[in-house]
Amino acid sequence: MSLVNIVLALVFFIAVVLSVVIFVGSKKSKGTVYMGWASLWASLWVLSMLLFRVANTVYFLNFPSRALYVSGILISLSFLMFSFVFLDHSPNPIARHRTRILLYLLTLLLVGATIFTTTIISDVTVTGGNTVLFGELYPLYGAVLISHFFWAYINFFKRYRKVNDKGERVQLRYIIVGTLVSVVAGLYFDILAPYLLRDFRHYWVGPALIVLFVGITTFAISKYRLFSIRVIAGQLFIFALWIFVLVRTILSDTANERIINGGLFISTVIIGVLLIRSIFQEVQTRERMEGLANELAGANERLTQLDQQKSEFLSIASHQLRSPLTAIKGYSSMILEGSFGPVTGDKLREAVDRIFLSAERLVIIVEDFLNVSRIEQGRMQYDFSTVNLEELVDGVVKELEQNSKKAGLTVTFEKGANGPFFIHADFGKVRQMVTNLLDNAIKYTKQGSIALSINKDSATRKILVKIKDTGIGIAPEVITLLFQKFSRDKNAGKVNIMGTGLGLYVVKELMKAHKGSVWVDSPGEGKGSTFYLEFMAE
Ligand code: ADP
Repeated sequence: MSLVNIVLALVFFIAVVLSVVIFVGSKKSKGTVYMGWASLWASLWVLSMLLFRVANTVYFLNFPSRALYVSGILISLSFLMFSFVFLDHSPNPIARHRTRILLYLLTLLLVGATIFTTTIISDVTVTGGNTVLFGELYPLYGAVLISHFFWAYINFFKRYRKVNDKGERVQLRYIIVGTLVSVVAGLYFDILAPYLLRDFRHYWVGPALIVLFVGITTFAISKYRLFSIRVIAGQLFIFALWIFVLVRTILSDTANERIINGGLFISTVIIGVLLIRSIFQEVQTRERMEGLANELAGANERLTQLDQQKSEFLSIASHQLRSPLTAIKGYSSMILEGSFGPVTGDKLREAVDRIFLSAERLVIIVEDFLNVSRIEQGRMQYDFSTVNLEELVDGVVKELEQNSKKAGLTVTFEKGANGPFFIHADFGKVRQMVTNLLDNAIKYTKQGSIALSINKDSATRKILVKIKDTGIGIAPEVITLLFQKFSRDKNAGKVNIMGTGLGLYVVKELMKAHKGSVWVDSPGEGKGSTFYLEFMAE
């Protein structure tokens, strides 16, 4: 056997295995089936070339010659079909049904003409080397085959320009560049040169190079589907082993040898089948896992979207709540001040008082909601300027005076001697933080006092605001969790039902933007707590 024939036999063998691999691996995607067909026809093409080369009578030459051209046009058609579907993510890739049927019909006609008539292959001859004589319709045959490939590449190029996914672009590049070598060689050495130059010397080059065509597309698909190149290599090796042992069995000289080789063959087949099965099982598991991962990714995306919608909703709802609340707060305060005439009777005063206090608390909650949604949507804006922290805290204490009085708590504010206490901050945000902390202290203290203080450490230039209460205190195991979103101590609900668990989260986030810190101390449940805000002095 000449070297060329050995190469062809090898290519045939590889192409068969790869087409099986593609067929098995392509169960889930319609597109790759076409590539399976392309490789199957490619193996027929290579086999025909091998037979063409070894045939030594006109009678025997006839069959492979026609098979060569039948498989040729079927390769081009399958490749074209593959190009329509591969990486096309639309729900129905080959939408133009009629085009497909027309293409099939045309190819079928040419296949029929090749097999049954002399219009494409008029004759074959063995004198002066095996050659083919072409009929009058051969140019049509060549033109159709070439246009199949041409069209396929146009499809691939179009897809290449359209896809954004980096992996898919790489796949397409592999397919375009990888197949081009084999296709150009095949077109030249097997379609054009034999007809135009009557040159059959390199007739075998196309089929030999088709190994690239099949190999590279399989590789490219496998990056997409899941059978990896290692799996393919493993199978190739097993098949090679089988063939090797089978040939040895057939060629055995003695009966003894044949029995030994036969036994060897059977055992390699059994072990091989088991091995291949386990490989496929592994591939399947991987595929399933990949599927699950995709599902999870999808679910995750939906959740992120939902989360976003929730933040938007929160933001809109809070905005809507803000103005009526301001009105409630404003009017109730005016009523209390007597702007609409004297408020007669303790019951009435009490009722309006309640309205005012609740509105005030609601304002804080709504503001927290707004802040949370701003933080989550990343559109929190800060307006930094020089802020007198001492004045700010004073203001908050006054603002909440009604609440603390109502709760029967004494509130004190002790100012350190080393003032003034200027910081670089967003006034509104710092006010919100201090309000939150003082409001909490009032909410969670049933009796006793709240002591605020402000001090500066001259060495570190840090300003510390302390808010110490004699309230319900915090258990050590929850103390670290309080600054998380929606986190509330189980006792908090008992003391104050109207809580959201957002206040401290907002304080922490706002404090981050101020490059300061917030923390809390508490000796334990029922023993009061102290919250600290630490800023850098300006
Ligand atoms: P809310 O007060 O709306 O529940 P916060 O985020 O302001 O939300 O507070 C979270 C939790 O921290 C409260 O539910 C409460 O358990 C605890 N907490 C906050 N401040 C105090 C305090 N001064 N004393 C005791 N517990 C507090």
